[in-house]
Amino acid sequence: MTSKEASPRESGSVEHYDVVIIGAGVSGMYAVHHFREMGLSVRAYDGAKDIGGTWWYNRYPGARVDGPGSPYYCYTFSDEFMKEWDWEETQSEWSAVLAYLEYVADKLDLRRDIQFETWVKDVRYDEAAQRWTVETDTGVRASAQFLVCAVGALSTANMPDISGIHDFAGETYHTGRWPHEPVSFAGKRVAVIGTGSSGIQSIPEIAKEADHVTVLQRTPQFAFPAGNRPITPEEMEEARESWETIRGKMLAHPGGFPVDTHTRSALDDTPEEREALYEELWKRGSFHFFLKSYNDIAISEEANQTMADFVRKKIREVVKDPETADKLMPDHFVMTKRPILENGYFETYNRDNVTLVDLREDPIERFTPTSVVTRSGEHPIDMLVLATGFDAISGSMLRLNPKGRGGRSLKERWTDRFHNYLGLTIRDFPNLFMVHGPGSPGVFYNMPLGAERQMAWIGDCIRHLREQGQGAIEPRAESEEAWDNEVAAIANATLFPRTDSWWTGANVPGKPRYFSVYLGGSLYYQRIAEVKDKDYDGFDFEPAHAPEGAGAS
Ligand SMILES: Cc1cc2nc3c(=O)[nH]c(=O)nc-3n(C[C@H](O)[C@H](O)[C@H](O)COP(=O)(O)OP(=O)(O)OC[C@H]3O[C@@H](n4cnc5c(N)ncnc54)[C@H](O)[C@@H]3O)c2cc1C
Repeated sequence: MTSKEASPRESGSVEHYDVVIIGAGVSGMYAVHHFREMGLSVRAYDGAKDIGGTWWYNRYPGARVDGPGSPYYCYTFSDEFMKEWDWEETQSEWSAVLAYLEYVADKLDLRRDIQFETWVKDVRYDEAAQRWTVETDTGVRASAQFLVCAVGALSTANMPDISGIHDFAGETYHTGRWPHEPVSFAGKRVAVIGTGSSGIQSIPEIAKEADHVTVLQRTPQFAFPAGNRPITPEEMEEARESWETIRGKMLAHPGGFPVDTHTRSALDDTPEEREALYEELWKRGSFHFFLKSYNDIAISEEANQTMADFVRKKIREVVKDPETADKLMPDHFVMTKRPILENGYFETYNRDNVTLVDLREDPIERFTPTSVVTRSGEHPIDMLVLATGFDAISGSMLRLNPKGRGGRSLKERWTDRFHNYLGLTIRDFPNLFMVHGPGSPGVFYNMPLGAERQMAWIGDCIRHLREQGQGAIEPRAESEEAWDNEVAAIANATLFPRTDSWWTGANVPGKPRYFSVYLGGSLYYQRIAEVKDKDYDGFDFEPAHAPEGAGAS
Protein backbone atom coordinates (compact mmCIF):
# COMPACT_ATOMS: atom_id res chain seq x y z
CA MET A 1 0.00 0.00 0.00
CA THR A 2 2.70 2.45 -0.86
CA SER A 3 1.67 3.83 -4.22
CA LYS A 4 -1.25 6.24 -4.40
CA GLU A 5 -2.57 4.58 -7.53
CA ALA A 6 -2.80 0.84 -7.14
CA SER A 7 -4.15 -0.86 -10.22
CA PRO A 8 -6.50 -3.79 -10.40
CA ARG A 9 -5.50 -7.25 -11.54
CA GLU A 10 -7.49 -9.39 -13.90
CA SER A 11 -7.65 -13.17 -13.82
CA GLY A 12 -9.87 -14.85 -16.36
CA SER A 13 -12.87 -12.61 -16.61
CA VAL A 14 -12.73 -11.57 -12.95
CA GLU A 15 -11.41 -8.13 -12.02
CA HIS A 16 -9.57 -7.95 -8.69
CA TYR A 17 -9.60 -4.91 -6.42
CA ASP A 18 -8.74 -4.11 -2.86
CA VAL A 19 -12.08 -2.42 -2.32
CA VAL A 20 -15.35 -2.63 -4.19
CA ILE A 21 -17.77 0.19 -3.39
CA ILE A 22 -21.46 -0.14 -4.13
CA GLY A 23 -23.07 3.24 -4.75
CA ALA A 24 -21.74 6.52 -6.10
CA GLY A 25 -23.77 9.05 -4.16
CA VAL A 26 -22.20 11.47 -1.69
CA SER A 27 -20.82 8.53 0.34
CA GLY A 28 -19.60 6.28 -2.48
CA MET A 29 -17.90 9.21 -4.19
CA TYR A 30 -16.01 10.03 -1.04
CA ALA A 31 -15.15 6.36 -0.58
CA VAL A 32 -13.52 6.24 -4.03
CA HIS A 33 -11.39 9.24 -3.16
CA HIS A 34 -10.50 8.13 0.36
CA PHE A 35 -9.43 4.58 -0.46
CA ARG A 36 -7.59 5.71 -3.57
CA GLU A 37 -5.65 8.17 -1.41
CA MET A 38 -4.70 5.22 0.79
CA GLY A 39 -3.13 3.57 -2.24
CA LEU A 40 -5.81 0.90 -2.60
CA SER A 41 -7.26 -0.23 -5.89
CA VAL A 42 -10.96 0.60 -5.96
CA ARG A 43 -13.98 0.09 -8.17
CA ALA A 44 -17.41 1.54 -7.57
CA TYR A 45 -20.65 0.49 -9.24
CA ASP A 46 -23.87 2.40 -9.43
CA GLY A 47 -27.14 1.57 -11.14
CA ALA A 48 -27.66 5.25 -11.96
CA LYS A 49 -26.27 6.87 -15.11
CA ASP A 50 -23.98 9.20 -13.21
CA ILE A 51 -22.82 10.30 -9.77
CA GLY A 52 -25.06 11.85 -7.11
CA GLY A 53 -27.37 9.14 -5.72
CA THR A 54 -30.14 11.02 -3.89
CA TRP A 55 -29.51 14.12 -6.00
CA TRP A 56 -29.49 12.13 -9.21
CA TYR A 57 -32.88 10.59 -8.52
CA ASN A 58 -34.85 13.17 -6.53
CA ARG A 59 -35.51 15.76 -9.24
CA TYR A 60 -39.12 16.41 -8.39
CA PRO A 61 -40.30 20.03 -8.34
CA GLY A 62 -39.38 21.62 -5.03
CA ALA A 63 -36.66 19.04 -4.14
CA ARG A 64 -34.14 20.79 -1.95
CA VAL A 65 -31.68 20.24 0.80
CA ASP A 66 -33.90 20.17 3.85
CA GLY A 67 -31.40 20.20 6.65
CA PRO A 68 -29.48 23.20 7.98
CA GLY A 69 -28.56 23.69 4.36
CA SER A 70 -25.87 25.27 2.30
CA PRO A 71 -22.99 25.91 2.64
CA TYR A 72 -22.82 23.20 5.32
CA TYR A 73 -24.27 20.33 3.29
CA CYS A 74 -20.98 19.61 1.57
CA TYR A 75 -17.72 17.70 1.84
CA THR A 76 -15.61 19.19 4.58
CA PHE A 77 -12.28 17.52 3.88
CA SER A 78 -11.17 19.90 1.15
CA ASP A 79 -10.44 23.57 1.79
CA GLU A 80 -10.13 23.95 -1.95
CA PHE A 81 -13.77 23.00 -2.58
CA MET A 82 -14.86 25.46 0.07
CA LYS A 83 -12.75 28.20 -1.50
CA GLU A 84 -13.90 27.54 -5.03
CA TRP A 85 -17.55 26.62 -4.78
CA ASP A 86 -20.24 29.28 -4.48
CA TRP A 87 -23.50 28.26 -2.92
CA GLU A 88 -26.33 30.53 -3.97
CA GLU A 89 -29.19 29.66 -1.62
CA THR A 90 -29.45 28.46 1.97
CA GLN A 91 -31.65 25.50 0.99
CA SER A 92 -30.10 24.53 -2.31
CA GLU A 93 -32.21 22.94 -4.99
CA TRP A 94 -31.38 19.38 -6.07
CA SER A 95 -29.78 20.71 -9.28
CA ALA A 96 -27.36 22.91 -7.30
CA VAL A 97 -26.29 19.99 -5.09
CA LEU A 98 -25.83 17.82 -8.16
CA ALA A 99 -23.77 20.56 -9.86
CA TYR A 100 -21.53 20.67 -6.76
CA LEU A 101 -21.10 16.89 -6.79
CA GLU A 102 -20.26 17.00 -10.50
CA TYR A 103 -17.64 19.64 -9.77
CA VAL A 104 -16.16 17.37 -7.05
CA ALA A 105 -16.24 14.33 -9.35
CA ASP A 106 -14.40 16.31 -12.05
CA LYS A 107 -11.88 17.78 -9.62
CA LEU A 108 -10.97 14.39 -8.21
CA ASP A 109 -11.43 12.54 -11.50
CA LEU A 110 -13.69 10.09 -9.71
CA ARG A 111 -15.57 8.74 -12.69
CA ARG A 112 -12.60 6.74 -13.99
CA ASP A 113 -13.09 4.35 -11.07
CA ILE A 114 -16.88 4.21 -11.19
CA GLN A 115 -18.94 2.07 -13.49
CA PHE A 116 -22.44 3.49 -14.01
CA GLU A 117 -25.66 1.90 -15.20
CA THR A 118 -24.50 -1.21 -13.41
CA TRP A 119 -26.55 -2.79 -10.66
CA VAL A 120 -24.74 -5.12 -8.32
CA LYS A 121 -27.06 -8.08 -8.14
CA ASP A 122 -25.02 -10.61 -6.18
CA VAL A 123 -22.24 -10.32 -3.59
CA ARG A 124 -20.86 -13.39 -1.82
CA TYR A 125 -18.09 -13.95 0.65
CA ASP A 126 -15.54 -16.56 -0.40
CA GLU A 127 -14.30 -17.92 2.94
CA ALA A 128 -11.27 -19.70 1.49
CA ALA A 129 -10.04 -16.62 -0.39
CA GLN A 130 -11.23 -14.16 2.31
CA ARG A 131 -12.65 -12.03 -0.46
CA TRP A 132 -15.98 -10.82 -1.75
CA THR A 133 -17.12 -11.78 -5.22
CA VAL A 134 -19.36 -9.34 -6.99
CA GLU A 135 -21.67 -9.86 -9.94
CA THR A 136 -23.51 -7.15 -11.80
CA ASP A 137 -26.41 -7.05 -14.21
CA THR A 138 -24.00 -5.98 -16.95
CA GLY A 139 -22.03 -9.22 -16.61
CA VAL A 140 -19.07 -7.77 -14.67
CA ARG A 141 -17.46 -10.19 -12.23
CA ALA A 142 -15.15 -8.69 -9.64
CA SER A 143 -13.43 -9.76 -6.48
CA ALA A 144 -12.29 -7.58 -3.60
CA GLN A 145 -10.94 -8.08 -0.11
CA PHE A 146 -13.22 -5.34 1.22
CA LEU A 147 -16.78 -4.46 0.34
CA VAL A 148 -18.08 -0.99 1.15
CA CYS A 149 -21.85 -0.68 0.87
CA ALA A 150 -22.66 2.98 0.23
CA VAL A 151 -26.08 1.95 -1.04
CA GLY A 152 -28.02 4.83 0.51
CA ALA A 153 -30.28 5.12 3.53
CA LEU A 154 -32.91 6.78 1.33
CA SER A 155 -32.49 5.20 -2.06
CA THR A 156 -34.90 2.27 -2.30
CA ALA A 157 -38.24 3.75 -3.32
CA ASN A 158 -41.24 2.62 -1.29
CA MET A 159 -44.01 1.69 -3.72
CA PRO A 160 -47.49 1.50 -2.21
CA ASP A 161 -49.45 -1.67 -2.73
CA ILE A 162 -52.98 -0.40 -3.38
CA SER A 163 -55.68 -2.28 -5.20
CA GLY A 164 -55.74 -1.41 -8.91
CA ILE A 165 -52.75 0.97 -8.77
CA HIS A 166 -51.11 -0.80 -11.71
CA ASP A 167 -54.30 -0.38 -13.75
CA PHE A 168 -54.08 3.39 -13.51
CA ALA A 169 -53.48 4.43 -17.12
CA GLY A 170 -52.24 8.01 -16.58
CA GLU A 171 -48.69 9.16 -15.92
CA THR A 172 -47.29 7.85 -12.63
CA TYR A 173 -44.13 9.14 -10.98
CA HIS A 174 -42.36 8.35 -7.73
CA THR A 175 -40.64 11.43 -6.30
CA GLY A 176 -37.50 9.38 -5.60
CA ARG A 177 -37.32 8.22 -9.24
CA TRP A 178 -38.30 11.45 -10.97
CA PRO A 179 -37.79 11.50 -14.78
CA HIS A 180 -34.98 13.54 -16.27
CA GLU A 181 -37.28 14.97 -18.93
CA PRO A 182 -39.52 17.87 -17.84
CA VAL A 183 -42.90 16.79 -16.47
CA SER A 184 -45.77 19.12 -17.32
CA PHE A 185 -48.69 19.43 -14.90
CA ALA A 186 -50.47 22.04 -17.00
CA GLY A 187 -54.15 21.29 -17.48
CA LYS A 188 -53.87 18.06 -15.49
CA ARG A 189 -55.68 16.67 -12.50
CA VAL A 190 -52.94 15.32 -10.25
CA ALA A 191 -53.23 13.12 -7.17
CA VAL A 192 -50.32 13.13 -4.73
CA ILE A 193 -50.04 10.28 -2.23
CA GLY A 194 -47.93 11.11 0.78
CA THR A 195 -47.18 14.17 2.88
CA GLY A 196 -43.67 13.46 4.12
CA SER A 197 -40.75 15.67 3.05
CA SER A 198 -41.10 14.93 -0.68
CA GLY A 199 -44.86 15.51 -0.71
CA ILE A 200 -44.61 18.72 1.30
CA GLN A 201 -41.84 20.03 -0.95
CA SER A 202 -43.55 19.12 -4.22
CA ILE A 203 -47.25 19.84 -3.58
CA PRO A 204 -46.96 23.68 -3.64
CA GLU A 205 -44.95 23.53 -6.88
CA ILE A 206 -47.36 21.12 -8.58
CA ALA A 207 -50.36 23.18 -7.46
CA LYS A 208 -48.95 26.30 -9.16
CA GLU A 209 -49.25 24.61 -12.55
CA ALA A 210 -51.83 21.84 -12.36
CA ASP A 211 -55.50 22.14 -13.12
CA HIS A 212 -56.29 20.43 -9.83
CA VAL A 213 -54.34 18.66 -7.08
CA THR A 214 -55.87 16.05 -4.80
CA VAL A 215 -53.63 15.44 -1.79
CA LEU A 216 -54.11 12.00 -0.27
CA GLN A 217 -52.88 12.40 3.29
CA ARG A 218 -52.41 9.54 5.74
CA THR A 219 -50.61 11.49 8.48
CA PRO A 220 -50.84 15.23 9.08
CA GLN A 221 -47.36 16.61 9.61
CA PHE A 222 -45.53 19.27 11.52
CA ALA A 223 -43.66 21.33 8.95
CA PHE A 224 -41.51 24.40 9.55
CA PRO A 225 -40.66 27.37 7.33
CA ALA A 226 -37.60 26.53 5.23
CA GLY A 227 -36.59 30.18 5.32
CA ASN A 228 -34.79 29.68 2.04
CA ARG A 229 -32.96 32.81 0.88
CA PRO A 230 -29.99 33.77 -1.26
CA ILE A 231 -26.56 33.47 0.35
CA THR A 232 -24.82 36.79 -0.13
CA PRO A 233 -21.25 36.93 -1.48
CA GLU A 234 -20.26 38.44 1.90
CA GLU A 235 -21.72 35.46 3.79
CA MET A 236 -19.95 33.04 1.49
CA GLU A 237 -16.71 34.92 2.03
CA GLU A 238 -17.19 34.87 5.78
CA ALA A 239 -17.83 31.11 5.72
CA ARG A 240 -14.62 30.64 3.72
CA GLU A 241 -12.56 32.73 6.07
CA SER A 242 -13.78 30.95 9.18
CA TRP A 243 -14.00 27.50 7.61
CA GLU A 244 -11.58 25.92 10.04
CA THR A 245 -13.63 27.12 13.02
CA ILE A 246 -16.87 26.13 11.30
CA ARG A 247 -15.58 22.63 10.59
CA GLY A 248 -14.46 22.31 14.21
CA LYS A 249 -17.96 23.25 15.34
CA MET A 250 -19.50 20.73 12.95
CA LEU A 251 -17.31 17.96 14.31
CA ALA A 252 -18.27 18.85 17.88
CA HIS A 253 -21.99 19.28 17.30
CA PRO A 254 -24.30 16.28 17.97
CA GLY A 255 -25.84 16.53 14.48
CA GLY A 256 -22.75 17.70 12.60
CA PHE A 257 -23.91 21.31 12.20
CA PRO A 258 -22.01 24.51 12.95
CA VAL A 259 -24.47 25.90 15.48
CA ASP A 260 -24.58 26.35 19.23
CA THR A 261 -27.46 24.37 20.58
CA HIS A 262 -29.74 25.62 23.29
CA THR A 263 -28.97 24.10 26.64
CA ARG A 264 -32.18 25.01 28.48
CA SER A 265 -35.29 22.99 29.11
CA ALA A 266 -38.49 24.35 27.58
CA LEU A 267 -39.91 24.20 31.07
CA ASP A 268 -37.29 26.60 32.45
CA ASP A 269 -38.89 29.45 30.51
CA THR A 270 -42.21 31.15 31.17
CA PRO A 271 -44.91 30.66 28.51
CA GLU A 272 -44.23 34.20 27.29
CA GLU A 273 -40.47 33.58 26.99
CA ARG A 274 -41.10 30.33 25.13
CA GLU A 275 -43.53 31.98 22.76
CA ALA A 276 -41.04 34.76 22.03
CA LEU A 277 -38.27 32.26 21.30
CA TYR A 278 -40.49 30.08 19.09
CA GLU A 279 -41.65 33.17 17.19
CA GLU A 280 -38.10 34.30 16.59
CA LEU A 281 -36.98 30.86 15.38
CA TRP A 282 -40.09 30.45 13.24
CA LYS A 283 -39.22 33.71 11.47
CA ARG A 284 -35.63 32.60 10.91
CA GLY A 285 -36.74 29.28 9.44
CA SER A 286 -34.58 26.28 8.54
CA PHE A 287 -33.49 23.87 11.26
CA HIS A 288 -33.04 26.66 13.82
CA PHE A 289 -36.31 25.61 15.33
CA PHE A 290 -34.90 22.24 16.37
CA LEU A 291 -31.26 23.09 16.88
CA LYS A 292 -31.67 26.35 18.74
CA SER A 293 -34.78 25.90 20.81
CA TYR A 294 -34.79 23.64 23.87
CA ASN A 295 -32.83 20.55 24.77
CA ASP A 296 -35.75 18.42 25.95
CA ILE A 297 -38.28 18.68 23.12
CA ALA A 298 -37.60 15.10 22.06
CA ILE A 299 -37.40 13.84 25.63
CA SER A 300 -40.13 15.39 27.75
CA GLU A 301 -43.80 15.08 26.81
CA GLU A 302 -44.55 18.37 28.49
CA ALA A 303 -41.76 20.24 26.69
CA ASN A 304 -42.81 18.61 23.43
CA GLN A 305 -46.36 19.80 23.90
CA THR A 306 -45.24 23.44 24.10
CA MET A 307 -43.63 23.28 20.67
CA ALA A 308 -46.37 21.13 19.14
CA ASP A 309 -49.05 23.58 20.28
CA PHE A 310 -47.10 26.49 18.83
CA VAL A 311 -46.84 24.84 15.40
CA ARG A 312 -50.48 23.76 15.41
CA LYS A 313 -51.45 27.37 16.14
CA LYS A 314 -49.31 28.53 13.22
CA ILE A 315 -51.01 26.06 10.85
CA ARG A 316 -54.43 27.33 11.96
CA GLU A 317 -53.33 30.92 11.36
CA VAL A 318 -52.38 30.13 7.76
CA VAL A 319 -55.09 27.73 6.57
CA LYS A 320 -58.32 29.66 6.00
CA ASP A 321 -60.83 26.81 5.85
CA PRO A 322 -61.26 25.47 9.43
CA GLU A 323 -62.27 21.99 8.22
CA THR A 324 -59.11 21.69 6.13
CA ALA A 325 -57.05 23.06 9.02
CA ASP A 326 -58.54 20.35 11.27
CA LYS A 327 -57.43 17.67 8.85
CA LEU A 328 -53.92 19.15 8.80
CA MET A 329 -53.51 19.05 12.60
CA PRO A 330 -50.67 16.71 13.52
CA ASP A 331 -51.32 14.61 16.60
CA HIS A 332 -47.96 12.94 17.23
CA PHE A 333 -45.03 14.28 19.25
CA VAL A 334 -43.39 17.06 17.28
CA MET A 335 -39.91 16.17 15.91
CA THR A 336 -40.50 12.44 16.29
CA LYS A 337 -41.01 12.13 12.55
CA ARG A 338 -38.40 13.52 10.14
CA PRO A 339 -38.68 17.31 10.58
CA ILE A 340 -39.91 18.84 7.36
CA LEU A 341 -39.03 22.24 5.94
CA GLU A 342 -41.74 23.80 3.82
CA ASN A 343 -41.97 26.54 1.23
CA GLY A 344 -45.62 27.62 1.17
CA TYR A 345 -47.09 24.18 1.90
CA PHE A 346 -49.88 25.22 4.26
CA GLU A 347 -50.77 28.29 2.13
CA THR A 348 -51.33 25.90 -0.77
CA TYR A 349 -54.53 24.68 0.90
CA ASN A 350 -55.98 28.18 0.45
CA ARG A 351 -55.92 27.67 -3.31
CA ASP A 352 -59.13 26.73 -5.14
CA ASN A 353 -57.40 23.99 -7.11
CA VAL A 354 -56.26 21.93 -4.11
CA THR A 355 -58.33 19.34 -2.23
CA LEU A 356 -57.15 17.52 0.87
CA VAL A 357 -58.41 13.98 1.47
CA ASP A 358 -57.81 12.67 4.99
CA LEU A 359 -57.18 8.97 4.42
CA ARG A 360 -57.76 8.19 8.08
CA GLU A 361 -61.45 8.92 7.70
CA ASP A 362 -61.73 8.48 3.94
CA PRO A 363 -59.32 5.67 2.93
CA ILE A 364 -58.35 4.75 -0.63
CA GLU A 365 -60.39 1.78 -1.82
CA ARG A 366 -58.86 1.31 -5.26
CA PHE A 367 -57.51 2.87 -8.40
CA THR A 368 -59.24 2.63 -11.77
CA PRO A 369 -57.56 3.48 -15.11
CA THR A 370 -58.77 7.08 -14.73
CA SER A 371 -59.34 7.76 -11.05
CA VAL A 372 -58.66 7.10 -7.43
CA VAL A 373 -61.66 5.89 -5.45
CA THR A 374 -61.84 6.69 -1.76
CA ARG A 375 -64.62 5.67 0.60
CA SER A 376 -66.48 8.93 -0.01
CA GLY A 377 -66.34 8.78 -3.82
CA GLU A 378 -64.33 8.91 -7.02
CA HIS A 379 -61.64 11.49 -7.86
CA PRO A 380 -60.91 11.55 -11.62
CA ILE A 381 -57.16 12.08 -12.24
CA ASP A 382 -54.71 12.30 -15.13
CA MET A 383 -51.51 11.91 -13.14
CA LEU A 384 -50.40 10.14 -9.96
CA VAL A 385 -47.42 11.33 -7.92
CA LEU A 386 -46.17 8.84 -5.36
CA ALA A 387 -44.48 10.82 -2.62
CA THR A 388 -44.34 7.64 -0.59
CA GLY A 389 -40.71 7.83 0.46
CA PHE A 390 -38.29 5.01 0.90
CA ASP A 391 -37.70 1.63 2.44
CA ALA A 392 -35.33 3.64 4.57
CA ILE A 393 -32.09 2.85 6.40
CA SER A 394 -32.06 -0.93 5.88
CA GLY A 395 -33.94 -1.27 2.58
CA SER A 396 -31.02 -0.95 0.16
CA MET A 397 -28.85 -3.37 2.13
CA LEU A 398 -31.65 -5.93 2.10
CA ARG A 399 -32.22 -5.38 -1.62
CA LEU A 400 -28.50 -6.09 -2.15
CA ASN A 401 -28.84 -9.08 0.20
CA PRO A 402 -25.15 -10.06 0.54
CA LYS A 403 -24.36 -13.72 1.24
CA GLY A 404 -21.84 -14.14 4.02
CA ARG A 405 -20.25 -17.12 5.74
CA GLY A 406 -21.82 -20.44 4.78
CA GLY A 407 -23.82 -18.67 2.07
CA ARG A 408 -26.04 -17.17 4.77
CA SER A 409 -27.93 -14.16 3.44
CA LEU A 410 -28.54 -10.82 5.08
CA LYS A 411 -32.29 -11.40 4.70
CA GLU A 412 -31.90 -14.46 6.92
CA ARG A 413 -29.92 -12.50 9.53
CA TRP A 414 -32.13 -9.41 9.55
CA THR A 415 -35.54 -10.96 10.10
CA ASP A 416 -36.26 -9.53 13.56
CA ARG A 417 -33.65 -6.78 13.98
CA PHE A 418 -30.90 -5.24 11.85
CA HIS A 419 -28.08 -6.94 13.77
CA ASN A 420 -24.81 -5.04 13.43
CA TYR A 421 -21.87 -3.69 15.38
CA LEU A 422 -21.14 0.05 15.37
CA GLY A 423 -23.56 0.53 12.50
CA LEU A 424 -20.64 -0.47 10.29
CA THR A 425 -20.17 -4.24 10.37
CA ILE A 426 -22.24 -7.42 10.56
CA ARG A 427 -21.38 -10.82 12.01
CA ASP A 428 -21.02 -13.54 9.32
CA PHE A 429 -20.16 -10.82 6.79
CA PRO A 430 -16.40 -10.34 7.27
CA ASN A 431 -14.72 -7.33 5.65
CA LEU A 432 -18.08 -5.83 4.71
CA PHE A 433 -18.68 -2.24 5.82
CA MET A 434 -21.92 -0.28 5.72
CA VAL A 435 -22.19 3.49 5.38
CA HIS A 436 -25.16 5.21 7.07
CA GLY A 437 -26.57 1.80 7.89
CA PRO A 438 -28.80 0.80 10.81
CA GLY A 439 -27.05 1.28 14.15
CA SER A 440 -25.23 4.42 12.92
CA PRO A 441 -26.37 8.07 13.26
CA GLY A 442 -27.01 7.98 9.47
CA VAL A 443 -30.06 10.10 8.74
CA PHE A 444 -29.75 11.92 12.09
CA TYR A 445 -26.46 13.49 11.13
CA ASN A 446 -25.18 15.85 8.45
CA MET A 447 -24.73 12.99 6.01
CA PRO A 448 -21.75 14.10 3.87
CA LEU A 449 -19.77 14.71 7.07
CA GLY A 450 -21.01 11.40 8.50
CA ALA A 451 -19.78 9.61 5.38
CA GLU A 452 -16.34 11.21 5.73
CA ARG A 453 -16.11 10.17 9.37
CA GLN A 454 -17.29 6.61 8.83
CA MET A 455 -14.92 6.21 5.88
CA ALA A 456 -12.01 7.37 8.02
CA TRP A 457 -12.80 4.58 10.49
CA ILE A 458 -13.15 1.98 7.72
CA GLY A 459 -9.85 3.10 6.18
CA ASP A 460 -8.05 2.85 9.52
CA CYS A 461 -9.51 -0.60 10.04
CA ILE A 462 -8.30 -1.80 6.63
CA ARG A 463 -4.85 -0.38 7.32
CA HIS A 464 -4.73 -2.11 10.71
CA LEU A 465 -5.79 -5.42 9.24
CA ARG A 466 -3.12 -5.34 6.60
CA GLU A 467 -0.39 -4.15 8.96
CA GLN A 468 -1.21 -6.99 11.34
CA GLY A 469 -1.19 -9.62 8.57
CA GLN A 470 -4.84 -10.34 9.18
CA GLY A 471 -7.13 -11.43 6.38
CA ALA A 472 -10.55 -10.74 7.81
CA ILE A 473 -12.36 -8.85 10.54
CA GLU A 474 -15.82 -9.61 11.84
CA PRO A 475 -17.78 -8.57 14.93
CA ARG A 476 -18.54 -11.02 17.73
CA ALA A 477 -22.15 -11.97 18.40
CA GLU A 478 -22.02 -10.43 21.87
CA SER A 479 -20.69 -7.14 20.41
CA GLU A 480 -23.71 -6.94 18.14
CA GLU A 481 -26.02 -7.61 21.03
CA ALA A 482 -24.36 -4.98 23.23
CA TRP A 483 -24.50 -2.43 20.39
CA ASP A 484 -28.15 -3.16 19.76
CA ASN A 485 -28.81 -2.58 23.47
CA GLU A 486 -26.86 0.67 23.40
CA VAL A 487 -28.79 1.96 20.37
CA ALA A 488 -32.08 0.95 22.00
CA ALA A 489 -31.21 2.46 25.39
CA ILE A 490 -30.47 5.86 23.85
CA ALA A 491 -33.60 5.77 21.70
CA ASN A 492 -35.83 4.60 24.55
CA ALA A 493 -34.82 7.59 26.64
CA THR A 494 -36.57 9.76 24.02
CA LEU A 495 -40.02 10.12 22.49
CA PHE A 496 -38.84 8.96 19.04
CA PRO A 497 -39.79 5.27 19.33
CA ARG A 498 -43.30 6.25 20.43
CA THR A 499 -44.27 7.61 17.02
CA ASP A 500 -44.76 5.53 13.88
CA SER A 501 -42.32 6.81 11.27
CA TRP A 502 -39.94 5.63 8.59
CA TRP A 503 -37.31 5.77 11.32
CA THR A 504 -39.17 2.95 13.05
CA GLY A 505 -39.93 1.07 9.83
CA ALA A 506 -43.66 1.78 10.12
CA ASN A 507 -44.04 2.84 6.47
CA VAL A 508 -43.09 -0.56 5.03
CA PRO A 509 -45.36 -3.52 5.76
CA GLY A 510 -43.56 -6.47 7.36
CA LYS A 511 -40.43 -4.53 8.30
CA PRO A 512 -38.97 -5.01 11.81
CA ARG A 513 -40.60 -2.23 13.83
CA TYR A 514 -38.08 -0.51 16.03
CA PHE A 515 -35.92 2.60 16.14
CA SER A 516 -32.65 1.49 14.57
CA VAL A 517 -30.73 4.78 14.35
CA TYR A 518 -27.93 5.62 16.82
CA LEU A 519 -29.29 8.78 18.42
CA GLY A 520 -26.18 9.70 20.37
CA GLY A 521 -24.96 12.00 17.58
CA SER A 522 -21.29 12.87 17.84
CA LEU A 523 -20.96 10.48 20.80
CA TYR A 524 -21.05 7.80 18.11
CA TYR A 525 -17.75 8.98 16.72
CA GLN A 526 -16.20 8.83 20.18
CA ARG A 527 -17.52 5.29 20.59
CA ILE A 528 -16.12 4.02 17.30
CA ALA A 529 -12.79 5.74 18.04
CA GLU A 530 -12.66 3.98 21.43
CA VAL A 531 -13.19 0.63 19.74
CA LYS A 532 -10.37 1.39 17.32
CA ASP A 533 -8.06 2.60 20.10
CA LYS A 534 -8.64 -0.65 21.97
CA ASP A 535 -7.36 -2.59 18.97
CA TYR A 536 -10.82 -3.12 17.55
CA ASP A 537 -12.44 -4.29 20.72
CA GLY A 538 -15.38 -6.59 20.06
CA PHE A 539 -14.09 -7.94 16.76
CA ASP A 540 -12.60 -11.30 15.79
CA PHE A 541 -9.69 -11.35 13.38
CA GLU A 542 -8.70 -14.15 11.06
CA PRO A 543 -5.09 -14.38 9.89
CA ALA A 544 -4.56 -13.88 6.17
CA HIS A 545 -4.74 -17.23 4.36
CA ALA A 546 -2.30 -15.96 1.75
CA PRO A 547 0.41 -13.32 2.14
CA GLU A 548 -0.81 -9.78 1.53
CA GLY A 549 -1.07 -9.09 -2.15
CA ALA A 550 -1.42 -12.71 -3.21
CA GLY A 551 -5.16 -12.42 -3.54
CA ALA A 552 -5.33 -8.69 -3.76
CA SER A 553 -3.77 -6.28 -6.15
C1 LIG B 1 -35.11 15.01 -1.02
C2 LIG B 1 -34.01 14.70 -0.06
C3 LIG B 1 -33.41 15.72 0.66
C4 LIG B 1 -32.37 15.43 1.54
N1 LIG B 1 -31.80 16.46 2.25
C5 LIG B 1 -30.79 16.19 3.10
C6 LIG B 1 -30.18 17.23 3.88
O1 LIG B 1 -30.57 18.37 3.80
N2 LIG B 1 -29.15 16.92 4.70
C7 LIG B 1 -28.69 15.63 4.82
O2 LIG B 1 -27.75 15.40 5.57
N3 LIG B 1 -29.26 14.64 4.10
C8 LIG B 1 -30.28 14.88 3.27
N4 LIG B 1 -30.85 13.86 2.55
C9 LIG B 1 -30.34 12.51 2.70
C10 LIG B 1 -29.40 12.09 1.53
O3 LIG B 1 -29.84 10.84 1.14
C11 LIG B 1 -27.95 12.10 2.01
O4 LIG B 1 -27.57 13.39 2.41
C12 LIG B 1 -26.92 11.67 0.96
O5 LIG B 1 -27.15 12.22 -0.30
C13 LIG B 1 -26.82 10.16 0.91
O6 LIG B 1 -25.74 9.79 0.11
P1 LIG B 1 -25.32 8.27 -0.03
O7 LIG B 1 -24.23 8.22 -1.00
O8 LIG B 1 -25.09 7.70 1.32
O9 LIG B 1 -26.63 7.53 -0.58
P2 LIG B 1 -27.41 7.79 -1.95
O10 LIG B 1 -27.27 9.17 -2.40
O11 LIG B 1 -28.77 7.25 -1.75
O12 LIG B 1 -26.63 6.88 -3.00
C14 LIG B 1 -26.72 5.49 -3.00
C15 LIG B 1 -26.41 5.02 -4.40
O13 LIG B 1 -26.26 3.60 -4.35
C16 LIG B 1 -26.75 3.06 -5.55
N5 LIG B 1 -27.06 1.67 -5.30
C17 LIG B 1 -27.80 1.14 -4.29
N6 LIG B 1 -27.84 -0.20 -4.40
C18 LIG B 1 -27.10 -0.53 -5.49
C19 LIG B 1 -26.76 -1.76 -6.12
N7 LIG B 1 -27.19 -2.93 -5.64
N8 LIG B 1 -26.01 -1.72 -7.25
C20 LIG B 1 -25.56 -0.54 -7.76
N9 LIG B 1 -25.87 0.66 -7.20
C21 LIG B 1 -26.62 0.66 -6.08
C22 LIG B 1 -27.99 3.91 -5.87
O14 LIG B 1 -28.28 3.86 -7.25
C23 LIG B 1 -27.53 5.29 -5.39
O15 LIG B 1 -27.03 6.06 -6.46
C24 LIG B 1 -31.92 14.10 1.69
C25 LIG B 1 -32.55 13.08 1.00
C26 LIG B 1 -33.59 13.36 0.14
C27 LIG B 1 -34.25 12.22 -0.59
